[in-house]
Amino acid sequence: MINTASAEQLAEEVEALHEQLKNAVIMMVDDEPIMMEVLQTFLEYEGYNNFLMVSDSTKAVAEVESQWPDILLLDLKMPEVDGFQILEMLRGHPDFYQLPIIILTSSSDAETKLKALEMGATDFLAKPVDASELALRLRNTLTVKAYQDQLTYYDGLTGLPNRSRFTDLLSWTLQTAERDQEPVAAVNLTVDRFKQINDTLGPRVGDLLLKLIADRLSDSVRSSDVVSFTGRNNLWQHIGRLGDDEFCIMLSGGPATNDAAFVAQRLLEVVKQAFIIEDEEVFITASVGIAVFPEDAQDADSLIKHSRTAAKVAQQRGRDVYQFFSSEMNRKALERLQIESDLRRAIERNEFLLHYQPKINTNTGQLAGMEALVRWMHPERGLVPPGMFIELAEQAGMVSAIGEWVIHEACRQTKIWHESGLEHLNVSVNVSPQQLLDKNLMKTIDAALSSGLDPQHLVVEITESGMVGKEERVIKILNEIKEHGPLLSIDDFGTGYSSLSYLKRLPVDELKIDRSFIIDVPENEQDCAIVKAIVGMADSLKLNLVVEGVEERSQLDYLASIGCHIIQGFYFSRPLPAEEFEAFARQTEVKV
Ligand code: C2E
Ligand code: CA
Ligand code: CA
Repeated sequence: MINTASAEQLAEEVEALHEQLKNAVIMMVDDEPIMMEVLQTFLEYEGYNNFLMVSDSTKAVAEVESQWPDILLLDLKMPEVDGFQILEMLRGHPDFYQLPIIILTSSSDAETKLKALEMGATDFLAKPVDASELALRLRNTLTVKAYQDQLTYYDGLTGLPNRSRFTDLLSWTLQTAERDQEPVAAVNLTVDRFKQINDTLGPRVGDLLLKLIADRLSDSVRSSDVVSFTGRNNLWQHIGRLGDDEFCIMLSGGPATNDAAFVAQRLLEVVKQAFIIEDEEVFITASVGIAVFPEDAQDADSLIKHSRTAAKVAQQRGRDVYQFFSSEMNRKALERLQIESDLRRAIERNEFLLHYQPKINTNTGQLAGMEALVRWMHPERGLVPPGMFIELAEQAGMVSAIGEWVIHEACRQTKIWHESGLEHLNVSVNVSPQQLLDKNLMKTIDAALSSGLDPQHLVVEITESGMVGKEERVIKILNEIKEHGPLLSIDDFGTGYSSLSYLKRLPVDELKIDRSFIIDVPENEQDCAIVKAIVGMADSLKLNLVVEGVEERSQLDYLASIGCHIIQGFYFSRPLPAEEFEAFARQTEVKV
């Protein structure tokens, strides 16, 4: 008896496949463009939508190589290079010897057909082409190709690309990466003690488990937490099953060592969650190995091999860990992991402190305010500068917690200074892109201001880089901040790409020219021109302008000559601990 459910299912699958086939890339080679147009019209009517037409037969093979069509409709009689020659070249081609090729020919001559068949033609169509005949042949040929591809390129159990397919995908990715000079990482995940699991629970459960692992890995490939962490939604590329208990994921689109380490950590966590198989919980761990192009290997095979070696080392290290192939990257990843865990502890134990760097108004010689800059008093490493941990904190999702403390402390301290006679001081705090988008930011600012500090004395510094792609949201947030009183400043100005028209819509009060434009002033004419342009821009937008990074008298003089008067830089003072800053501030006037 026929199982009706599965017959229906099968019919549905076939239907779905036929739909999918409509996206096949169909290349036609014919010296008469009109012929190809007729074919295209027929096929469009059948629902196909991807066509490539080549009327110059000398270019046919090159076009195939660059476009990778799914099928070729090939005319036989053409000037210069004829269909036979193209057929011959493709059948001898390492990548296209299996490409389905349907020959279109008006010749009813049996000998021609026989010759083409012997040379590897897949099928024939007689000219003039009959529309329904064409549709049928095309569909049949593409269906066979799809099944063949499935068998040849995909793993039957998990449906993932198999080793050969994965290696091809990686090779292509490496070609592009080499051109764009971008790194690519191969991340090997080997299931720990899979043989034991298989022996104990039986191969059927073993197979089910592998299928569930594959699903889970694919899900996390698509999941947004990885994307939001790295900020790159094209980071994950492909995942393949390379052996019994072995999967490989390729990361491209410029993964840094950090991204690969993060992804590895994610994968380890993902496989550690219980798998439910036939009402039983099964727990596993995995070992992950990472190899990076171009440092560790220049070709796909070696890269895959090295990532596997690294996974073996991870297994020897005790499993449930990741390991880089290169020792240098390993060292960096370990150090990073260490700092990350120290950082979590630092938040709990409050190991942060603020230094304050004066801003001087060179017109009056008075203190115009100060920037609060965070430092981390690490119990063993000593004072750690923000360059060593802010970015990491941002990636690990900890920057808002640190930032919250910074805003509180800066407001608290400034309020105390106001009460002790330094009542004009404005304090600037840095708010990182992630913190700016954090829904708790407004609450944090309000709570910090409840110390009694006049909101107008708090300046929130943000960077242009944090706004890219989120312009409308940023405008909303900035308006909200402004409504609560603080002033807004754009930090590192000139390094981002915000347009003038966008800038005009931001409710900002101040621009801080990035230090990189100041370093070679006044010698470098180009930098001088940029600085001058920014001065003009700030003037016309009626914004305060702060120049930071001023170290030399010559810089100061030049800046004064073009009308920059608010200066922050080592020339006047480095960032200072609170007591030292207070002493600095109490000196009546700074001599300029
Ligand atoms: P930034 O906001 O551009 O801060 C100015 C940096 O330039 C400070 O480095 C300061 O010490 C340095 N600097 C100032 N004048 C000069 C000079 O004349 N010459 C030179 N060579 N450097 C000068 P610092 O304190 O190491 O901070 C580095 C960055 O870390 C800051 O750059 C800021 O982006 C970030 N940061 C600092 N504190 C915080 C914070 O509380 N939260 C967040 N999210 N980021 C912070
Ligand atoms: Ca700043
Ligand atoms: Ca800056």
